[in-house]
Amino acid sequence: MTVSQASFALPRLNIYATGGTIAGSSASATDTFQYETATLGIDKLIAAVPELKKIAEVKGEQIASVDSNDISVAILLQLAQKLHQDLAGDTAAAVITHGTDTLEETAFFLSLTTKTDKPIILVGAMRPATAISADGSMNLLQAASVAVHEDAAKRGVMMVMNDRIGSGFYITKTRANTPDAFKSVEAGYLGLMIGLEPHFYYLPQQPSNRPYFDVSGYKELPRVDIIYGYQSTDTALLDAAIENGAKAVVIDATGAGSLSTPLLERVKELTAQGFPIVRASRTVEGYISVPEDEGTGSGFLNAQKARIMLMLALAQQDDLATIRNYFK
Ligand code: ASP
Repeated sequence: MTVSQASFALPRLNIYATGGTIAGSSASATDTFQYETATLGIDKLIAAVPELKKIAEVKGEQIASVDSNDISVAILLQLAQKLHQDLAGDTAAAVITHGTDTLEETAFFLSLTTKTDKPIILVGAMRPATAISADGSMNLLQAASVAVHEDAAKRGVMMVMNDRIGSGFYITKTRANTPDAFKSVEAGYLGLMIGLEPHFYYLPQQPSNRPYFDVSGYKELPRVDIIYGYQSTDTALLDAAIENGAKAVVIDATGAGSLSTPLLERVKELTAQGFPIVRASRTVEGYISVPEDEGTGSGFLNAQKARIMLMLALAQQDDLATIRNYFK
């Protein structure tokens, strides 16, 4: 190959598919809520967007074909390990197609478990591929466009949907039905798509206080459960979670992490025994900090992200003091 031919070579882009609505279909073009998720394979997703081949040398890989509610720890670990391996080679960037319901959990997990300057982009869709005005194809093409763009390096894991570029660390699903489903409530978006051109608001940066967990060789993670806070919550669900094998519990509590009197007393007892309880907030925005004898505040993390952080911390046997620092 001559030098001039080499300079026109397209970047290698791996697209890993996991299922979700972006791979969903229905017999009716107007069905946007009773369709079946995860019915189309990666080859069909790529074939539906021929423009992909103009911007990258695309390789598709089917990691799973599930609704994102069935993304397991095994799938998360497989993704992190595969990204580590593939991006260490000549693959320039990675896109992961994913159901939107738990996309933020995978994005957050990968933010904590990958270490690369190369872009890793999660993408989903709110309408199945068969719908009139389906959003998946454009979302996928925009995600790929960001992935291979020179401005996208050194920004960690990102999400591209609905013309927005979001941080994989901060993004969260805030709407159940409409294509504008994701926001980074406190931190804001990283950028905006104008057609296929990404416009980043800031120079490359990483979330502050983002720990890195090396999961190479891991096959599973300790169990962490989430329980919900509401008026007069008793201790039954917390105790059941622990009896059932949870090694830590997140309480999606009210307000700034508040608990009912019986639950607070139980949390104090467990904290004195060194059992990790993290208190997040069922409100969408805020920073949660609690006295040290009353558990651990989740900081800016919502309950589902706090669970991911705890599973990773417990897997490397961090003590309570170290765990507390991850949430500051
Ligand atoms: N239930 C679907 C999923 O998360 C929803 C979606 O993809 O939008 O897999």
